[in-house]
Amino acid sequence: MPSENAAATPIGTPGVADFLGKSIEAICPFGFGKAGDDQNHCAHFVGHALRWAAGVGLTCDGLLPAKLPSSHAMYGQRGALVRVNQLFTHVAGKTVLDTTAKYPDIQKGLIFVSLTSNFTNDFTEMGNHPRKHVGIVIANEVFHYGNTQDAVRKDSLTQFVKRMTGAYGGVVTFVTTGLPASAGV
Ligand SMILES: [Zn+2]
Repeated sequence: MPSENAAATPIGTPGVADFLGKSIEAICPFGFGKAGDDQNHCAHFVGHALRWAAGVGLTCDGLLPAKLPSSHAMYGQRGALVRVNQLFTHVAGKTVLDTTAKYPDIQKGLIFVSLTSNFTNDFTEMGNHPRKHVGIVIANEVFHYGNTQDAVRKDSLTQFVKRMTGAYGGVVTFVTTGLPASAGV
């Protein structure tokens, strides 16, 4: 069942911690995504958690197999962006994270990761390689959707970097950004 509470919870008020342990089935009020499906829901989670309704791109409501009935609470509303690279296009303050130095203090922001070869040379745009991920950083902790466990999890920045570097193999780059203006945080 879609959770009204999750859909309406902006980060920062009780906090993104309310999403911890929840699967995409509890997060998406449109009903797109099932635990165990082969979709990557990391951007989808970020979109709903931040109530991110702006920006050009593929949204979850557009991926539903059928139109919602007019009786549905989300009928006629726009869903969340679901592609990591399309979220990346719409945020400002892109800064490559130097993983060899002391990490910066990040109170609110996003962190993106992909294979270095999947970014443009100036790290302002990202391609569509499947190895890409995004999380919300609050007080130096990363809240992100774990597609293997199908639940929102939390890692320290250090743990996140270690985990994703290990998961992706090859040369990866992490880019921190601000939150989108539409996040309402
Ligand atoms: Zn959704």
